[in-house]
Amino acid sequence: MLPVKDAESIILSLVESIDLPDKTETVNLDAAVGRILAAPVTGKLDFPYWDNSAMDGYAVRYEDVRECDADRPVILDVIEEIPAGYSPKLTIGTGQTARIFTGAMMPAGADTIVIQENTQREGDRVKILTSPKFQECVRHKASFYQAGTPMLRSGIQLGAAEIAIIATAQCTELTVYRRPRVAILSTGDELVSPETPLQPGQIVDSNQYALASAVRQNGAIPIKLGIIPDRPEELKKAIVRAIDSADLVLSTGGVSVGDYDYIDRILEELGGEIHIRSVAVKPGKPLTVATFANSCLYFGIPGNPVSALVSYWRFVLPALKKLSGLSNNWQPVFVKAITRQDLRASGKRETYLWGKLHIIDGSYEFALSGGSHSSGNLINLGETNGLAIVPMGENLITAGTKIDVMQVGSPLVD
Ligand code: AMP
Ligand code: MG
Repeated sequence: MLPVKDAESIILSLVESIDLPDKTETVNLDAAVGRILAAPVTGKLDFPYWDNSAMDGYAVRYEDVRECDADRPVILDVIEEIPAGYSPKLTIGTGQTARIFTGAMMPAGADTIVIQENTQREGDRVKILTSPKFQECVRHKASFYQAGTPMLRSGIQLGAAEIAIIATAQCTELTVYRRPRVAILSTGDELVSPETPLQPGQIVDSNQYALASAVRQNGAIPIKLGIIPDRPEELKKAIVRAIDSADLVLSTGGVSVGDYDYIDRILEELGGEIHIRSVAVKPGKPLTVATFANSCLYFGIPGNPVSALVSYWRFVLPALKKLSGLSNNWQPVFVKAITRQDLRASGKRETYLWGKLHIIDGSYEFALSGGSHSSGNLINLGETNGLAIVPMGENLITAGTKIDVMQVGSPLVD
């Protein structure tokens, strides 16, 4: 049985050797959120595009207004009005000004803005009541960004701020990494879909839905291949289809040591190289990780619904993130939290106990989910946002102790 850390590093190094065929694609701005840039973005336009006013006021020549105050105001002729979006026609000469609004283009001849609050309008003229600083409230062309220089780097995930930047630069098409394709199949004679009326002895396939949702939430494309019965020939066909259609395959069930657990044997028959067979983790011990010549990475995950999700969070998600093209190493987030309850484990494997992570006055606390921590008890997994870790060799961590918790959702702020 491999320690968790060793399994994690084997999986991450296997991902490194995967070369996603036709790795990139072009998307337009509306489809870009959440995607990962596969090429730097370089704008063709300076930003600001031209000198403009940061405030509503008057565009002036600084030399005209450098010495004035409310007792000795300077009076200027207003020769033009410049709203945002208008291209000024006139040049400001000595003794002249233009009424200007936020974001509007500076007229030629002017170099400074006097904010409206420091003026008094009188018909076609304006009194300047306070002397501004030289170039006050002027945003200069290219002062924020110079055309042709790097704007956004490759390997970052596009969120609202990055999309605003790209829109501003009028880059309407972007090169992004294509989303990893993840084939998902559930194995087991006992399984039926949620739509099928349950017969005695049957179990509803929840893993397919859990994994497809988790994969989709992380920007990859789930390919649901359905329920496959525990018959080697059918399993083999389904697995071939999965390997051919995806970058990652997640199958659940059939990786244990039971009479109907065929997955490892089939993977070997299909030429897969098995790198991991079991991990010293609870839940989720019988984890199979294999690679195929077409660079597909196969995860054979245990069928118990909690094991399936914990295996996904601990082992599949880091692989999926790495495969996605993110340039910063993504890692699961482990926080130190005070446990509110005693945590028990057998000591033989690193144990993950699910519950809720709270933030109280800036510190984390962990509350164990009530009820049984059996890998078959899917029900008390609801609203889980943290997995408390009991290290190998420990049987009991008492309430009030600081522990490591792996975050799998946003902490609750109490
Ligand atoms: P296995 O890993 O195939 O031995 O399955 C272990 C347990 O998980 C059995 O009780 C199965 O019925 C259950 N199980 C297997 N696959 C699924 C699934 N897709 N959804 C829900 N439960 C499952
Ligand atoms: Mg089974």
